[in-house]
Amino acid sequence: MSLATALALNAGTPVNEMWERVREALRMQHGEAVYRSWFRALEWIGMDNGKAQLAVPTRFMREWIVSHYGADIRTMLQKERSDVLAVDIIIRAQSAPAPQAQPQAEAAAPAPAQNDAAPSEAAATIIEMNDLTMSAPLDPRYTFENFVVGKPNELAHAAARRIAEEGKVAIGCNPLFLYGGVGLGKTHLMHALAWQIKKNTPQRRVMYLSAEKFMYQFIKALRFKESFAFKETFRSVDVLMIDDVQFISGKDSTQEEFFHTFNALVDQNKQLVISGDRSPSDLEGIEERVRSRLGWGLVADVHGTNYELRLGILQSKIEQMHGVEIPQKVVEFLAHKITSNVRELEGALNRVVAHATLVGRPVTLETTQEVLSDLLRANDRRITIEDIQKKVAEHFNIKVSDMHSARRSRAVARPRQIAMFLSKRLTTKSLPEIGRRFGGKDHTTVMHAVKKVDELMGGDSEFLKDVELLTRMLQG
Ligand code: ADP
Ligand code: MG
Repeated sequence: MSLATALALNAGTPVNEMWERVREALRMQHGEAVYRSWFRALEWIGMDNGKAQLAVPTRFMREWIVSHYGADIRTMLQKERSDVLAVDIIIRAQSAPAPQAQPQAEAAAPAPAQNDAAPSEAAATIIEMNDLTMSAPLDPRYTFENFVVGKPNELAHAAARRIAEEGKVAIGCNPLFLYGGVGLGKTHLMHALAWQIKKNTPQRRVMYLSAEKFMYQFIKALRFKESFAFKETFRSVDVLMIDDVQFISGKDSTQEEFFHTFNALVDQNKQLVISGDRSPSDLEGIEERVRSRLGWGLVADVHGTNYELRLGILQSKIEQMHGVEIPQKVVEFLAHKITSNVRELEGALNRVVAHATLVGRPVTLETTQEVLSDLLRANDRRITIEDIQKKVAEHFNIKVSDMHSARRSRAVARPRQIAMFLSKRLTTKSLPEIGRRFGGKDHTTVMHAVKKVDELMGGDSEFLKDVELLTRMLQG
């Protein structure tokens, strides 16, 4: 549908009232400032083949709206109109008349150097609905092309690639279990895999959903006495992906169903991909037989980021922003400072760019420090395993290298256990990750250390005081 027909079709129809309601809801939800910056200039164009068409003046606005508010907009539109399957945002031609009496001149976000766009510009589709109704939507930005590979995620990435390429169950990778802390790219990898399978082998039925959604669907099926249909749906897929499996911990009947679904699929030689925030053996509140089944195939750990990966990710995101100029100094500063996870790194970059765009000034190191002051403080305060090893070694007068050694003499082993204990207590690192950072020790060694120190603190007040003192010094 051309822009002109769309405009003609919708001028003065109730559709505009519908859109006003959606915008009002967005204003309520996100507040006046956000509304003025992003939604006031967002126009309703019309429906095209199940896709709601919206328009904005610049490419930058489009990217920002899609990445920050895309899901919200879709949900709100779907509440108003059941025929909305997806949402497209196009960049409207500067010369085209505004479809509504809208004060365009006031539209915020005067993005610099963004005069691109003809009405034919390819739209950014927010979310495609899936043919499998239970499947959750896939984010179009989460593709292999947009995934930056580095040491910390190379195994997980290689396994996902392999499954996508194979066209059938990948031997040795079934199930693939991806685990790691939040914001490190597990969901991104799973979506990328799903997209790639759809592209390579469209006949393979892929279902992706969160463990929470699995649980919800299961309970719903029970309530409406549809558990047979529920089982059939799951068992008819070729590739089942369940994200954030830790959410089924403690939910016994869901676990039971999950276990059966899981076994049925493996028996039928179907591919499974699961993610969790820790390794199968460390998942608490999950039955032993489920845990061991989860760890059957390939267990791939997505580690925390390193500097090179953070730099690569920033560079890739900046390229995707088309024409946004960021001095290399600022990029390096961000990669150096925002070490927590990729989500936060991305958020920091977006904030810096949004600020520069809104005030119409170039990005500099000074403005970056100013805009991100809260985030930078939080990242500075974060305690690392290295800090802990250094402090504990100092305190007990041993060498930092003893933290990595296998020496068992009490004078070295006890401080090492304390350092492991503090790493568990003061950082968000998983047991295997901690083990690795102590000279490649097994996660059970770390677990043992944590238990041991806990015990000693309960029985020996001098020991307790020592550990508390170290904790306070580290939190300083
Ligand atoms: P998780 O599921 O592990 O919590 P996500 O997959 O949601 O993390 O990732 C958080 C954000 O970081 C997403 O926007 C994702 O696109 C981005 N991200 C994570 N890892 C990478 C990577 N290696 N390359 C590019 N973007 C990444
Ligand atoms: Mg996730």
